[in-house]
Amino acid sequence: MPAAALPPDEAARLAALRKYAVLDTSAESAFDDAVRLASAICATPIALVSLIDETRQWFKARIGLAAQETPRDMAFCAHALLKPDEPLVVPDALQDPRFFDNPLVTGDPRIRFYAGAPLLTPDGHVLGTLCVIDREPRLITAEQRTALAILARTVVTQLELRRVSSELAVANQRLRALALVDPLTGLANRRALASQLENEMERARRHDAPLALLILDIDHFKSYNDEFGHVLGDDALCCFADILRTNNRASDLVARYGGEEFVMVLPETTLEGAHLLAERCREHIEAAAFPGKKITASIGIAVWQPRFERVEQFIDAADQALYAAKRGGRNRIETAADLPAPP
Ligand code: GH3
Ligand code: MG
Ligand code: MG
Repeated sequence: MPAAALPPDEAARLAALRKYAVLDTSAESAFDDAVRLASAICATPIALVSLIDETRQWFKARIGLAAQETPRDMAFCAHALLKPDEPLVVPDALQDPRFFDNPLVTGDPRIRFYAGAPLLTPDGHVLGTLCVIDREPRLITAEQRTALAILARTVVTQLELRRVSSELAVANQRLRALALVDPLTGLANRRALASQLENEMERARRHDAPLALLILDIDHFKSYNDEFGHVLGDDALCCFADILRTNNRASDLVARYGGEEFVMVLPETTLEGAHLLAERCREHIEAAAFPGKKITASIGIAVWQPRFERVEQFIDAADQALYAAKRGGRNRIETAADLPAPP
């Protein structure tokens, strides 16, 4: 039994097949419909959408056959790859030197008749075939042959649709993620902060769980920019963001709230815990080497209270504490006015 020769574009063909990401996926109605129609039009008990992988043929859709795949060296469809422009028709496999001793002919499913239309991609690779099979020797009419070729084209169109829509889904997911990230620092942006803080406030209300919020504002950052320029200013903002990142737990959210203002949302954190974290951040910032000169930050703390119904109210409470810290001389931490002083 001579196995089919490899097509000249085999490596590129396999790469194209991989791009469709269809091998070993579940059945889909568009492909099932194509094999039902092919079997009805050609009046055969078996019809398949067969994709020729490196060492196997795998069926995306099948009717009248139990196997999900067979070895490639037995595959009739592997022969169809060699003539991209025309269907391969085998009226009687027992009379064909390529197939007479093929295990699929001498054993189950006892193929005698085969007609397969190549699944030709827009860039000229044959992925496999849409094929019909009978256990009796047969002929195929010109109309059936044409219908099979048309159906094969619709199968390729479906494969294209599948690929494009999954690429779009990936691109959309990336865009959605990008829309929530501050491009300079890679931290969450204000939009991400608003939506996550809203969720956390809801959780705090439902479970009566502690929730704290810090606002950090760099002291005299305008003069930093004036002295070293915007580029080093931006670098400093990135270093600042890194310090905040390394000081929080995975469950905390760190966001860039404005130009040189940052917010940390601390779930399951009491005022005392928030104060410890704020102090740790303040010390790290003060001790860190920034590209231009030393930097300090002022920090305002608020903890969630039932009277905070909107995100803005919670942030505003921390913001007022921040202004108190600025007024009090900067490089310091203040808590919202109506909270007890931290221990
Ligand atoms: P204060 O201690 O009162 O906060 O003084 P400040 O100078 O930090 O405050 P102010 O709000 O007056 O100025 C903030 C400055 O932050 C203004 C601007 O020069 C700088 N800034 C804001 N956004 C960016 C940015 O994206 N990149 C850079 N390099 N600088 C920024
Ligand atoms: Mg500011
Ligand atoms: Mg500032």
